[in-house]
Amino acid sequence: MGKVAVGATIVCAAAVCAAAALLVRHRMRSSGKWYRAMAILKEFEEKCGTPILKLKQVADAMDVEMHAGLASEGGSKLKMLISYVDNLPSGHEKGIFYALDLGGTNFRVIRVKLGGREKGVAHQEFDEVSIPPHLMTGSSEALFDFIAEALAKFIDSEPEAFHPPPGRQRELGFTFSFPVRQTSIASGTLIRWTKGFNIEDVVGQDVVGELTKSLEKIGIDMRVSALVNDTIGTLAGGRFHNPDVVAAVILGTGTNAAYVERAQAIPKWHGPLPKSGEMVINTEWGNYRSSHLPLTEYDDHLDEESLNPGEQVFEKLISGMYLGEIVRRVLLKMAEEAEFFGDTVPAKLKQPFILRTPDVSAMHHDTSPDLKVVGNTLKDVLEVSNTSLKTRKIVVEVCDIVVTRGARLSAAGILGILKKIGRDTVKVGEKQKTVIALDGGLFEHYTKFRSCLESTMNELLGDEVAETIVIEHSNDGSGIGAALLAASHSQYLGLDES
Ligand code: ADP
Ligand code: MG
Repeated sequence: MGKVAVGATIVCAAAVCAAAALLVRHRMRSSGKWYRAMAILKEFEEKCGTPILKLKQVADAMDVEMHAGLASEGGSKLKMLISYVDNLPSGHEKGIFYALDLGGTNFRVIRVKLGGREKGVAHQEFDEVSIPPHLMTGSSEALFDFIAEALAKFIDSEPEAFHPPPGRQRELGFTFSFPVRQTSIASGTLIRWTKGFNIEDVVGQDVVGELTKSLEKIGIDMRVSALVNDTIGTLAGGRFHNPDVVAAVILGTGTNAAYVERAQAIPKWHGPLPKSGEMVINTEWGNYRSSHLPLTEYDDHLDEESLNPGEQVFEKLISGMYLGEIVRRVLLKMAEEAEFFGDTVPAKLKQPFILRTPDVSAMHHDTSPDLKVVGNTLKDVLEVSNTSLKTRKIVVEVCDIVVTRGARLSAAGILGILKKIGRDTVKVGEKQKTVIALDGGLFEHYTKFRSCLESTMNELLGDEVAETIVIEHSNDGSGIGAALLAASHSQYLGLDES
């Protein structure tokens, strides 16, 4: 070999060595980053842990808080609001009733024809209207006028067969899913708006009074016979079809639960004892909190930066509004501290609430071998492209941790209610069924959430008790439930017994 050739070989070898060293350093660096990302993931997973013992503590503490909330006004974070619903539908109701549903994703006007035990809900029809945004922050008069007009349009177009007999008023149930201090079954004052509504002049006012004024103004003769929220509507809808329904849980944008309590077990109730001996309690369980809840730094920050810090802590761990946001926060930390998505932090990932729960659901249910849905979601929502399979798998793991925790805590909440009403055990030979009506987009559409909730219930209750407890999807109780309650609290009750 000549000198030049030797020199060239040496230069080449040096270059190869340098490149190899760079590669090794790069690998070490990226394996260091990867190690850091895994450490963040592991720590998060540990803090989110919901072993059975912990869930039982959550349920026990929920039971204790429920007692405290029933004992006195303000006695607990759980408001345990008295709904004045002491007469749930029996399934025997007959006649034509209306409902308005305000406070969910859409506003609806509903009419049902009830045909008694045999025919049940013989007919139902609804109109869905979206509330123009300017009415959500305008005056209460403008909002209620709009609602009354939608109702007028609905009634004007209905066939003669639905008209009330001479001398009778139409009757309406109003599902108004905002916090209300009830003063009777058909009246209540608004405590505060939520979900983007903000109309100051109606806070502290009787909601039914406002609606009635607007109905009268355009000459609609209609009696508002029940004012409820979506949870109580769902309970009523469930009970109409199945007498074993004792509680309802909403898992949607938010979360709440209502159940049937013995009137005598409500020390703060000073009214006359209802004939049924029962009273529906609106727990407002979204506001539950306990030292047993597995809260992480991500939850603390989400809460601090929320519109209602310190409030709705249980809801912020469970409901559809927040699950995607928790996942985003964990991924952001991994991006910032471990270059999880490359050497820059994706700008979109810094945007609160950009990752929604349906996105999390889509990624979590991805069964394609290369996790194509995860890749596409990351690209479409966060503008992160070219993710490796390894990265996508970790993203799915984050979704799984967040959603499993939410579903298992929901199950613990349900166990808390079962404990409160003594249905968490069975006496020998007793086979009383206990049915919980569930509704809401999260429960309905997020399959893994739902199956985790159901399997956790079984795990918590044990085989023997689990056999007596049924979780039932109660479709759209929030809509027709109010009409059913208008029926069971009708002013004409007893007149139609012929
Ligand atoms: P609302 O709570 O407003 O009355 P829904 O009960 O329909 O309305 O719940 C809507 C919520 O359900 C959404 O905010 C979302 O979090 C959740 N959701 C809707 N679709 C899905 C889905 N495909 N997967 C997971 N969650 C979903
Ligand atoms: Mg709803």
